Amino acid sequence: MNNSLSVIGNQEWCAFEQLQIPAIKARVDSGAKTSSIQAHNIKRIFRNGIAWAEFDVNPIQDNRSVSVHCSAPIIDTRIIRSSSGETQKRFVIRTPMRLGEQVFDVELTLANRDAMDFRMLLGREAMRDRYLVNPAESFQFGDYSQNQVDDFYQHLIHEKSGLRIAVLASNKELYSNKRLMEAGKARGHEMFFYNIQQCYMRLDAKTPEVRYRGGSILDNIDAVIPRIRPSMTFYGCALLRQFDSVGTYCQNSAASISESRDKLFSSQLFSKNGIEIPLTGFAKSPLDTKDLIDMVGGAPLIIKLLNSAQGKGVVSAETSKAAESVINAFKSLQANILVQEFIKEAEGKDLRCFVVDGKVVAAIQRQAPQGEFRSNIHLGGTAARVRITKEERRMAIKAAKILNLQVAGVDIIRSKKGPLLLEVNSSPGLEGIENATGKDIANEMIMAIERKLKYAPLQAQPQS
Ligand code: ADP
Repeated sequence: MNNSLSVIGNQEWCAFEQLQIPAIKARVDSGAKTSSIQAHNIKRIFRNGIAWAEFDVNPIQDNRSVSVHCSAPIIDTRIIRSSSGETQKRFVIRTPMRLGEQVFDVELTLANRDAMDFRMLLGREAMRDRYLVNPAESFQFGDYSQNQVDDFYQHLIHEKSGLRIAVLASNKELYSNKRLMEAGKARGHEMFFYNIQQCYMRLDAKTPEVRYRGGSILDNIDAVIPRIRPSMTFYGCALLRQFDSVGTYCQNSAASISESRDKLFSSQLFSKNGIEIPLTGFAKSPLDTKDLIDMVGGAPLIIKLLNSAQGKGVVSAETSKAAESVINAFKSLQANILVQEFIKEAEGKDLRCFVVDGKVVAAIQRQAPQGEFRSNIHLGGTAARVRITKEERRMAIKAAKILNLQVAGVDIIRSKKGPLLLEVNSSPGLEGIENATGKDIANEMIMAIERKLKYAPLQAQPQS
């Protein structure tokens, strides 16, 4: 054992003078090779022919309103695959780091929006020949109080006078909900999280109300972002109608959410409005099963339960015989089902286009795991950013418009006939698509609310 090595704990304060980051708390992570720092708005620029990265860092944990603008030469680019399968291209920079008394160069990858709490991870490369990790200890090189940290960044803290925006959902800890809360705060808004189940309503012609746990009346909220899981559609939509009647803007309306949750109804709306969908059949009586199958071109076929989600109620049938038994079995359970032509040439891929306020703000291609045709990430599918065609973009925007959704996840499958619309999700998740594209979608959603409410944001905060 080398006694000249100093002991490092499981978390430590680091400083990067050149990046103007006087203090950032790092998780010591001997499982990672390279160190990483959480960055956003990452851009590559050229200075005298040399590639530099410009990026913003929120150095304080759980506080996205303090943002340091940084730049450094890019020394490498690496493809990182996350545990959930998304791939991401990351820039690597090299910069001096101070830890206690020591200052030395470290390589940092610019990580974008992992759902991790620490703003920085200190990996093996930086620690080799310098430190021994004692996981039972922390802050071996000194600790700071919250006040001291705030003092470091005092010049970046600005007055707030934003909107009052509520995220209406079921689980505060979900990535999407956390991101919306922090994106709103970062733009200077006051953010509230309301659990759908803990809201209740007073119906009255003169003074309708929405109340929350403990009796507080929610009468001064400017906007609600609904994030309603399928099992909460009925109550969640009732609440949204109530918010609407007390004058709160709902980013997606109750009517559009319930329409989007009815696959048959929304498919009827799409075909009525000239959007191509896979050839689809729907019937009630088992007497017609054979003709139903013929009508959509015979096997192979996809059979979908009308109220499925995350690919759970979607099965394929290779032969007409198999299709017939599955359909009859579902029918005997009184389930409502759709029968659809199988788009074989898609090879288990589909597109997810994220639409905010009439624009596709990000798109990914999802790929089903081997031996599976459903590309849902929950089933082990992978995702990567993708360039979509004009036609696909138009289709995604039109589908969101038909359902009158301000925010929509539009799923499109590429067939030999061209793009076909699979479905539209009114509470699309942010995690997979933000991680795969590096886009700040939560921020786009907040900005769309500002535009709707004609809110003029504060001047950009000073960044010295
Ligand atoms: P859910 O609403 O449960 O997610 P989807 O209708 O989106 O169900 O289907 C789940 C997955 O199955 C899709 O993401 C797609 O990869 C695949 N899939 C759906 N319909 C078809 C089809 N007609 N042909 C080929 N693959 C399909």
